[in-house]
Amino acid sequence: LLKPKIVILGAGYAGLMTLTRLQKAMNVDEAEIVLVNKHDYHYETTWLHHAAAGTLHHDRVRFDINNLIDRNKVTFIQGTVVEIDTEKNKVLFENDEISYDYLVVALGGESETYGIKGLKENSFAIVSVNAARKIRNHIEYQFATYHTEGKKNEEKLTIVVGGAGFTGMEFLGELTDRIPKLCRDYDIEENQVKIICVEAAAAPLTGFDKDLVKYAMAYLEGRGVQFKLNTRIKECQPNTIIVQSGEEEEVIKAGTIIWSAGVRGSSVIERSGFESKRGRVMVQPDLRAPGKDNVFIIGDCSIVVNKTDNSHYPPTAQIAMQQGMSCANNLIKLIRKKTDLEAFVPNIRGSVCSLGEKDAIGIVYGKKLVGSKALFMKKVIDNRALYMMGGASLVFKKGKLNLFS
Ligand code: FAD
Ligand code: NAD
Repeated sequence: LLKPKIVILGAGYAGLMTLTRLQKAMNVDEAEIVLVNKHDYHYETTWLHHAAAGTLHHDRVRFDINNLIDRNKVTFIQGTVVEIDTEKNKVLFENDEISYDYLVVALGGESETYGIKGLKENSFAIVSVNAARKIRNHIEYQFATYHTEGKKNEEKLTIVVGGAGFTGMEFLGELTDRIPKLCRDYDIEENQVKIICVEAAAAPLTGFDKDLVKYAMAYLEGRGVQFKLNTRIKECQPNTIIVQSGEEEEVIKAGTIIWSAGVRGSSVIERSGFESKRGRVMVQPDLRAPGKDNVFIIGDCSIVVNKTDNSHYPPTAQIAMQQGMSCANNLIKLIRKKTDLEAFVPNIRGSVCSLGEKDAIGIVYGKKLVGSKALFMKKVIDNRALYMMGGASLVFKKGKLNLFS
């Protein structure tokens, strides 16, 4: 008898949660499960700011997909998806294709530059292990060549971070940990280094608790970060960024420009004819794409509406993982010919924003946290994600085990 074939695209939080739950709950003869991912490793997107700043080696933020898979039930294919043909139930690669009966699209997000001139070409975004590794090496290269290229290259030691959302703030925290070490390694005075954060809104972390935001800003300012608020990045050229505040424009020279001011869904979604907004599909309550009863879309390429005020939930790993579980439950129901699919309702436990190794802010179950308590929670959250995907052995291998320091 032919088994139904479930294909999962993307081995991020959403895809891996779907996979691990499916392979646990389903019998070998119930379905053929195929996982597709660009690399043969999973990376913790939520840890990429460490790798980009160089405060954690990139091998700490990724792990081998093959170690998670039950080979009796799952086949892993390393490949880059180009397009999905939902009419023919096929996933297309550059030179190949595979068919599916059920599809889970969990391809995550990409950087969104809103068409701002020169940004794509001249800035970095913290979006993958490859990108993070490039940023770390680029920054180190600026420091390493500072003394060999003379005074006219003062801007080598200027780092601009565009966008003070969670990604920007967490990266700034890591940078302030990393800079003293780079300065020591390359005989540079710390006061020669400039870290500038440009944020379009009146404050970082729009919508987050005001006292905590003030705390985070003061902490980072105390460690040398200069915030330019109400200031928008307008254009980017090689080693140059043009910003605007009110009527005034300013040109900032910088050896490193990081764009952390926008994320979108997947370009595969757009190429595949789904009705979407910036690569994201507004999914049905059961996480299926409208009008496509065998296609689930989860994680950063889905939009989930908050029924209480009709707003969209922000794209987070927290939601992606919960969607993965719900999607697996619904797939199991479909395969077992049940019709009562569950409606996905996110359970938001809170958010914690790290500010480097030594401080953090957060709200967990409605309680405000700063300092060591917030840092502790952040590590618990990070370890929990590993546990959910790979069990205790993954936590021991890759986890943040120094919970109290
Ligand atoms: P991802 O985890 O990004 O996984 C997508 C996977 O698909 C990747 O493995 C990728 O390689 C693969 N892929 C992509 N395109 C293709 C293709 N064409 N073909 C094949 N494979 C492909 N959220 C939180 O809740 N808490 C946090 O603390 C937090 N911290 C963050 C810190 C940083 C620095 C960043 C950048 C984001 C953070 N987020 C956080 C947001 C969170 O990381 C995302 O919401 C989450 O990763 C989304 O999960 P996902 O499974 O949809 O995508
Ligand atoms: P974001 O969209 O949340 O923040 C982007 C920031 O850039 C905003 O403050 C915005 O005002 C600013 N901005 C936009 N255009 C600009 C311009 N032209 N010039 C200057 N500033 C500009 O993006 P993000 O921080 O990458 O977060 C993406 C998602 O990932 C969010 O859902 C976030 O909650 C999640 N995330 C969570 C954590 C955490 O929980 N610790 C960490 C990182 C990311």
